[in-house]
Amino acid sequence: MLRLAIAPAQWSELPDIDEVRPLNDSDTDCFASIREVLRNHGRLDRFGVALLHSHFSLDPDEIMVECSDDESRTLLNKPVRKDEANSSTIGTVWAFLHGQTSPETGDQITSQLTIGPVQWTKLRNTDDVQPLNDSDTKCLAAIRDVLIAHGKLGRFGISLLLSHFSLSPDEIMLESSDDEKRTLVTKPVKGEDAECNKIGTIWALRDGDVSTMAWCRQYCRRSEWNIYSHRNAHKKEK
Ligand SMILES: [Zn+2]
Repeated sequence: MLRLAIAPAQWSELPDIDEVRPLNDSDTDCFASIREVLRNHGRLDRFGVALLHSHFSLDPDEIMVECSDDESRTLLNKPVRKDEANSSTIGTVWAFLHGQTSPETGDQITSQLTIGPVQWTKLRNTDDVQPLNDSDTKCLAAIRDVLIAHGKLGRFGISLLLSHFSLSPDEIMLESSDDEKRTLVTKPVKGEDAECNKIGTIWALRDGDVSTMAWCRQYCRRSEWNIYSHRNAHKKEK
């Protein structure tokens, strides 16, 4: 039987948001295959696809934990020390990791599916979501196989589709990073007000042709510097 193994994953080791390639046509087949898996396992409403990325560095004992404030309809996402997280803190975005290898043969232990949380959220009493559990293992293993087949294991992970508050049809969730405070702030903005340098990062997959298949649930704002590639130049100077 396939076992679900949870291993530590380092958010900081994911590619930087300014360097990661936006969703493009070369991802379509992979998304269509993932949608097929999710549909077969009855999990289209449970899991979405996440573009794996980071915004700043964390210490090895820190994790990114999201809290929601209903009144201001804002999500605050910041580093918390691992030992300060409690049972109401659940993983919401997961990367597929290379599993354990057998000490004798050096081969991957195939009875084990290894995943690592790269994003956490503090659940409220009102949140209606089941944390990841053993009943998801088969579905997740099939998604991992799709990602391997398309060579996108390091590019995409999965996300629990958790809605913290409702959006009106013309609103999108947009995340901005305050690198100095190491805080991500995600808020609903009117679609037309969001004409910044943004990139889709979490998608729910749904029926329809490929162009309408991936519905973007969350965008991240990229640094405006990126437009002129200043940021990369700046990084190299350091
Ligand atoms: Zn982001």
